[in-house]
Amino acid sequence: MKQERQERGREILTWYQKNKRDLPWRHTRDPYRIWISEIMLQQTRVEAAIEYYLRFLEKFPDVQSLAQADDDAVLAAWQGLGYYSRARNLHKAAKIIAARNNGRFPAEYAEVKALPGIGLYTAGAILSIALNQPYPAVDGNVLRVVSRLEGSGEDIAQESARKNIANVVMEMMPSQQARDFNQGLMELGALICIPGSPRCLACPVHSLCNAFATGRQNELPVKKKKDGPVPELEYTVAVVEADGKLLLEYRKDETLLGRMWGLPMVERQKDRSAEALFEQKYGIQLQPVETLGTATHVFTHRVWKMEAVMFAPVSIPEVDGTLHWVTSEERSHLAVPVAFQKVFSLI
Ligand code: SF4
Repeated sequence: MKQERQERGREILTWYQKNKRDLPWRHTRDPYRIWISEIMLQQTRVEAAIEYYLRFLEKFPDVQSLAQADDDAVLAAWQGLGYYSRARNLHKAAKIIAARNNGRFPAEYAEVKALPGIGLYTAGAILSIALNQPYPAVDGNVLRVVSRLEGSGEDIAQESARKNIANVVMEMMPSQQARDFNQGLMELGALICIPGSPRCLACPVHSLCNAFATGRQNELPVKKKKDGPVPELEYTVAVVEADGKLLLEYRKDETLLGRMWGLPMVERQKDRSAEALFEQKYGIQLQPVETLGTATHVFTHRVWKMEAVMFAPVSIPEVDGTLHWVTSEERSHLAVPVAFQKVFSLI
C-alpha cells in the first residue's frame, strides 16, 4: 500500500511540474505573500482572487506595512472578497508578527498555527509552499482527490477522516518535494479530479486510482450534510437621503459585518411597522416614501432578505456615533460589504 501511495505521489508531482497554472503567488517564496494568497483563496475562486491579491500587495507589500495600516484601510482593500473576519485576522496576525519577530514571518509550525485565522490547512500550506517544509495541506480539493484515490467511504465532514487523509498525504509526499507535491495535489483537484464528474481519462494517476477502478468516482467523497436549513432573516433597510448625503451606520463590533459600514436596518416583525422599529433601535423618526426593491445576501450560516425602502427623514438626532451622513465621495473610501452594495444598486 505504501509503495502504491508513493508512486501516486511521484506521478502527481511530475504532472504538476509540467501542467501547473501560471499564478502570481507561484512566483514567490515569500511566506507573507503565500499567506495572503492562501487566506484569499479560502472562499474565493482563483480567477477572482488574482486581482485582489495584486492590489492588496501593492498597498501592503510586507508584514510591517499591513501591521501599521488602519483597520478601515485593510477592510477597504478586502472589499468585495467578503468574509471580513479573514481580513481582521490577517491584520491582527500581522501586528503580532511585527511586534514579536520584527516583521519576519515565523518558520515554526506551532508558531504559525497559533496566529489568528490560521488553521491546520493554512499552516501546512504556508510552510510547505514557502519553505518546502514537509507538512500536509488538506483542503477540500485534497480531501476529494485522496478519498477517490484510496476509495475511502469515510465522511470527509468528520475530523477523523481529515486526519487519516493527512496521514496518507504524508505517505504520498516525495522526499524534499513538499512545495510542489502539495500544490500538485490541490491543482489536480482543481483541474482534473473536480467535484461531480472528474476527468479521469486525463488524470495522471487513473491507473492507480481505486475509485476509477471500481467506477465509484462520482460517488466519492462521502460528505454528510448537516441537519437543518440555513435560517432566512428578513430585514427592512432604510435608504434615507438629505442634502446629497446618505445616512449610513457604522456597525457595532459584535454584530455580523461589525466595524464596517452599512445602511440602517431592522429585522421585520409582523405586528410592528418598520418606522416604529427604526425609532426603537436608532432613536430616529422616518416617513416611508417608496419601496425600492429587495436584495438577498447568503452567508454560510444565514441568509439576509433585505427590502430596501426609501424614507424621508422626520427627525434624525445629531450623530450618535453609529449613524452618519455621508457623501458618495466619502462613501467610496469606506469599507462597505457586498451585502449593502447590493442594496445601493437598487437606489
Ligand atoms: Fe480523480 Fe478520476 Fe484521477 Fe481518480 S482517476 S484521482 S477519480 S480524476
